[in-house]
Amino acid sequence: MKQIILLSAALVLLPAGAHAWSHTGHALIAQIANANLTPAAQAQVQELLKNDLDANENPSGRTTLAEVSSWPDEIRTKSNNGTFRGWHSRANPVCNDTLGPCKNGHCADQIIIDQTALLKDRTQPLRTRNEALKWVVHLVGDLHMPLHSGSNRDGGGNIPVTLIGLKSRKDPTLHDVWDNDLLRYALKRGPISIATEAASPLTADSPTQWMREARALSRQYVYAPLPGFACGSTPATPIALDPSYQEQAVPVIRDQIGKAGLRLAQLLNETLR
Ligand SMILES: [Zn+2]
Repeated sequence: MKQIILLSAALVLLPAGAHAWSHTGHALIAQIANANLTPAAQAQVQELLKNDLDANENPSGRTTLAEVSSWPDEIRTKSNNGTFRGWHSRANPVCNDTLGPCKNGHCADQIIIDQTALLKDRTQPLRTRNEALKWVVHLVGDLHMPLHSGSNRDGGGNIPVTLIGLKSRKDPTLHDVWDNDLLRYALKRGPISIATEAASPLTADSPTQWMREARALSRQYVYAPLPGFACGSTPATPIALDPSYQEQAVPVIRDQIGKAGLRLAQLLNETLR
């Protein structure tokens, strides 16, 4: 059955952060997922978010997937021993098809797989499953941000750029503008409409497949159109991103937000039966 889901970015105009998709993107993905949950999954989500804690371990008062979707970014600054380093992305090269390192299972796709197992296991403490839910919600979003799944040996797009004719923060990197400015630009086109065909069943390595797909997008739409792009080479001077670069990013961003939301719903529906 074909289903059309329309969600307006205006519903989630929240302050932008410095991490993948910013909070606006993560919240929108969570909203799309929430709109596609089964009643059983919906009921479990509500149960798991009761008594949710914030990054300081105080009651957060948050009760929705959108509200908790950036918690993993919030706790990142609290952990000074690097516990969660590497959890949000995987440094897969865009210039060949090998996968980046995943030391001790600390990379986004493997963490999604591991946290999904904890979320599913009803013998786990409620707090463990609450945190697992928040990791899954956040990292499915991160993985669909092309630069979290494929980069050019440049720390996930940590190269200076300028945006021609579009407002941005001071001295942005390629990663910054995909997180914030290009996302905002793409969401200005109105509600994201998603036409869903019957989704193919999830497999054990679906997160890794989603990541490979996002890496291909990074190669094709983030890096290949950069003027003077060369494999493994990091420019020292800012690359100017012209309006045609900005425009080609719009459908990529909108599609990835929609896909992430629907795939997250499918993962939660199969995990929280
Ligand atoms: Zn993140």
